[in-house]
Amino acid sequence: TYVIAEPCIDVMDRACVEECPVDCIYEGGRSLYIHPDECIDCGACEPVCPVEAIYYEDDLPARWEAFTDDNARFFHRP
Ligand code: SF4
Repeated sequence: TYVIAEPCIDVMDRACVEECPVDCIYEGGRSLYIHPDECIDCGACEPVCPVEAIYYEDDLPARWEAFTDDNARFFHRP
């Protein structure tokens, strides 16, 4: 799955939402989140993010590793 990391917080540009073919990017209070079960790993959202907040989970910079769980938790998964 792709993951939205720290740069999205309080930015929420939403260019990715327009790009996602399966509409799996949802809006939270301060950030957008990608539903880990719905994302088809197409990668379309990554290059359109103006603040480079989106990464394939395995490519997340180490300092933002917690955002994988944060994204999943937003959708109330264990
Ligand atoms: Fe949507 Fe594709 Fe981005 Fe997954 S990788 S969130 S399916 S645009």
